[in-house]
Amino acid sequence: PDGAPRTDAAARIAELLAALLPGGRVGSLVAGAILPGGGAMLDLVNPADGRVILSFADADAAVVDAAMAAAGPAQRAWWAMTAAARGRAIWDVARLVRQHADALAELETLSAGKPIRDTRGEVAKVAEMFEYYAGWADKLHGDVIPVPTSHLNYTRPEPFGTVVQITPWNAPIFTAGWQIAPAIAAGNAVVLKPSELTPLTSLALAALSDQAAGMPRGLVSVLAGAGPTAGAAAVGHRDTRLVVFVGSAETGAQIAASTARNIVPSILELGGKSANIVFADADPRRALLGAQAAIFGGAGQSCVAGSRLLVERAIHAEFVERLAQVAALIPFGQPTDPRTQIGPINNRRQFDRIGGMVAAAAAAGARIATGGGCPEALRGTGGFFYAPTILDGVAPDAAIAREEIFGPVLAVLPFDTEEEAVALANATPYGLAGAVWTQDVGRAHRVAAAVRAGTFWINSYKTINVASPFGGFGRSGFGRSSGREALLAYTQTKSVWVETAAEPGVAFGYVD
Ligand code: NAD
Repeated sequence: PDGAPRTDAAARIAELLAALLPGGRVGSLVAGAILPGGGAMLDLVNPADGRVILSFADADAAVVDAAMAAAGPAQRAWWAMTAAARGRAIWDVARLVRQHADALAELETLSAGKPIRDTRGEVAKVAEMFEYYAGWADKLHGDVIPVPTSHLNYTRPEPFGTVVQITPWNAPIFTAGWQIAPAIAAGNAVVLKPSELTPLTSLALAALSDQAAGMPRGLVSVLAGAGPTAGAAAVGHRDTRLVVFVGSAETGAQIAASTARNIVPSILELGGKSANIVFADADPRRALLGAQAAIFGGAGQSCVAGSRLLVERAIHAEFVERLAQVAALIPFGQPTDPRTQIGPINNRRQFDRIGGMVAAAAAAGARIATGGGCPEALRGTGGFFYAPTILDGVAPDAAIAREEIFGPVLAVLPFDTEEEAVALANATPYGLAGAVWTQDVGRAHRVAAAVRAGTFWINSYKTINVASPFGGFGRSGFGRSSGREALLAYTQTKSVWVETAAEPGVAFGYVD
């Protein structure tokens, strides 16, 4: 609270914030200015050493009201511009993100604990998202509907107005760009509430968007605050017209209950328990690399993590042994080291939860093939480092086979037949993603069709692109992000009728 940096990371973060945020202080970014919150103090903790980086006051109702009040006129000014001018302004956000890419990636790594090689890639993707949707801004148009010639009927895709977006801590700036870009390309204003554990890069992104040529101030605001306070107030605000939530299924259910009360639509991007299915005829090298990337990328803190490995019994023992060898070799440690591929878990609560789930699985009879805690070498750091872990011999009904763990922990289940593999893959209420590894083309497509999931990979894992739709089946949520589908999700269709007949027709009724 005294503002003095407490560690080296804190000092560097203070320098980066001074360059990226107006005034360099942490608060909510509303209409181009930082507003201090009036709520309880919240600590930001460095995942690599467990020490407090800085503290900020939770955004209170007055700050939420200010963001919503700024959004209304900004959105009307935005929608009054030509579509081409909106596209140019969005393109300028991308230019600014590229210009400040190094600082944004470093800020993300220092504050969220994500390896620098990952955050550099994710910041570049944020720029690509703004470029992609800049191109869409003047290509979003309605249709002329073939009704009887006595009438002309056309549609207009219109923005909702003010969209509230709530995002989690695992990929903060990536998720912010992923949702802000299509929302504003469709003509909306955005009030974004990032996780209180990782608000800094979302604030920086909104500050850059305020500087973009042609962007009205207040079009994108960011609330620095907690979920049950700032988040719930924004979701339930009278001026909120659409809520987009990315996070856990438990919180998603609360959001959906709140929006239902106000008859506000929502898009929910929730968790998963994705199955990675390896058949005995798979290319062994590709399948091994794919299986390790599927679960250990991002230290498993990925909604699409391949956290269940279903492997054909004929190759089960050898595959698990080799995967354990590969896992032990992945560069693991300090997120600022450019060689690091696996960094710490983002926060202590999640670190403890992972440890608890692994202990319970071992007590229930699973065998720990590798990992299973913080390695000796990293114990003194104070960081939340959890080694890549493989649990073999997991029973299909064990908690570790059913519940999202959101950490670098793989549950292995053997299978004998294709039918059994599909049944195991579908034995989950989630349906976010999945993959199959086989050289049998027919089987690959049969399995892709049979597994209930919003994204499915054949001989690949985690490949995504801004142009491709993404979203969940079942408990993983509804609505689609990315691609043209996201743009349409951020619009509502207006149908306009004109009578063109020489003689007046029916004043009111079905035209045929
Ligand atoms: P979380 O549900 O705990 O929190 C997500 C966000 O919701 C945070 O900003 C939090 O402050 C906010 N929040 C909490 N309670 C709220 C309330 N009552 N009203 C409004 N907002 C509230 O999730 P998390 O732990 O931050 O993130 C991990 C989860 O996110 C995992 O389940 C993961 O699978 C999921 N996720 C999904 C996707 C996807 O695209 N499907 C992507 C990334 C992460």
